[in-house]
Amino acid sequence: MTTSIRRYRQTKIVATLGPASGDEDVMRTLFETGVDVFRMNFSHGTHEAHRKNLETARKLEKEFNRPIGILADLQGPKLRVGQFKDGKIVLTKGQTLRFDLDESDGDETRVCLPHPEIMEALNIGDSILLDDGKVHVGVKEKGKDFLAVEVIAGQALSNNKGFNVPGIILPIPALTEKDRTDLDAALEMGVDWVAQSFVQRADDVLETRKIIDGRAALMAKIEKPSAVEDITEILKHIDGVMLARGDLGVELPPEDVPAVQKKIVRKVRHAGKPIIVATQMLESMIENARPTRAEASDVATAVYDGADAVMLSAETATGAYPVEAVSIMDRICQRTEADKAYRRIMKSDTPETESDASDAITVSAVHVAHDIEAACIVNYTTSGSTTLRTARQRPSVPVICLTQNESTARRLMLSYAVRSIHITNVNSFAETVEAAIKLTKEKGYTQSGNKIVMTAGVPFGVSGTTNVLRIADVE
Ligand code: PGA
Ligand code: MN
Repeated sequence: MTTSIRRYRQTKIVATLGPASGDEDVMRTLFETGVDVFRMNFSHGTHEAHRKNLETARKLEKEFNRPIGILADLQGPKLRVGQFKDGKIVLTKGQTLRFDLDESDGDETRVCLPHPEIMEALNIGDSILLDDGKVHVGVKEKGKDFLAVEVIAGQALSNNKGFNVPGIILPIPALTEKDRTDLDAALEMGVDWVAQSFVQRADDVLETRKIIDGRAALMAKIEKPSAVEDITEILKHIDGVMLARGDLGVELPPEDVPAVQKKIVRKVRHAGKPIIVATQMLESMIENARPTRAEASDVATAVYDGADAVMLSAETATGAYPVEAVSIMDRICQRTEADKAYRRIMKSDTPETESDASDAITVSAVHVAHDIEAACIVNYTTSGSTTLRTARQRPSVPVICLTQNESTARRLMLSYAVRSIHITNVNSFAETVEAAIKLTKEKGYTQSGNKIVMTAGVPFGVSGTTNVLRIADVE
């Protein structure tokens, strides 16, 4: 017996799994409540735990007969200070602190920073932010194996806190040893998406792309100012983007984050690749059953900006109200999409049609669907590229990605408006139209009397040849 699920919004929801949500029943409820893509955070948790979660997701896919996207998020080269004798130290404004390579426990005067290349790269006058920006220090003096800094702001520093150097391209490898091991494990498990953290420049994603070798889609997390600047080049080499506002908001002044969000979302959307807005969206729901009004506004802003997906992190991974967080996020997305102003914004900023047949066909499909009030648009696709072009137009009706390729079906679940249906055994365009009518009806996207707008390629079965637009009646 399969139960069916319907979503009444176009914007997708990504939820991070963790101790608060790894249980099969919780995952099922999260999925039923609105999760389209589950994120496994490789900064935490064992490979065993991630594998178990992935298996649960695959089980839910079968149970509900609906594809689920799985995103593996690699930790990346996050710099951290060492440990202190007493676990933490108190800081006073104006005091001096030394970062050195000595691995013994630190005190009020010094602490280990196990990165000689960072000492080399920094210069007198550079700013360093510690503990997500809670502590600000400036470099006063440097040597081959130490940095002496002056405390500019901050009260205390404790073990293993993060170390950010805003605005400077650091000479560190984009993939750490841990990332390589985690990436192998994730690919072996069969994840659909891999997110690479702290991408600094386009070069950083090239090696990852090579290792992945088509086994998953690759997403760059934009959380360094240098990546914001290099976004055009980075976009050429990846399949999607996560605007990771946690680290980005430490690296950039807070007042820069909203404008950067608008710029990146627009740029990635126009490129026809999925963009996730992430971090602190419903932060207070880690502890409370209801969000603040400001948080509701933040989720709505990402929707108004035209994001493909909004994401929950600690809210669903470790929070006390994971299901409530997904539920309210679902309601905010629906309510915002129903706003007339939202449609106006999406319409006023449609990307320019490119001069190739499949782009022209998909753009026309969206217009035709609107003019004849079709219930949905159906793309028959193998690689998913036609569906990405359709989603790029931000249509107001569901986009059905009808595909014989199961990994395409799963990857595309991250994209705006897309509901993937994995089919097997269609051998001609006529059979595909039949299948589209039958399946969309079965799943509740259409009913008798509706019209659907369909795109496909003939000759049938040759990838990359979308050249047919067909209107079909649902009997
Ligand atoms: P993280 O990424 O949770 O892996 O740090 C998200 C962010 O920085 O916003
Ligand atoms: Mn981050």
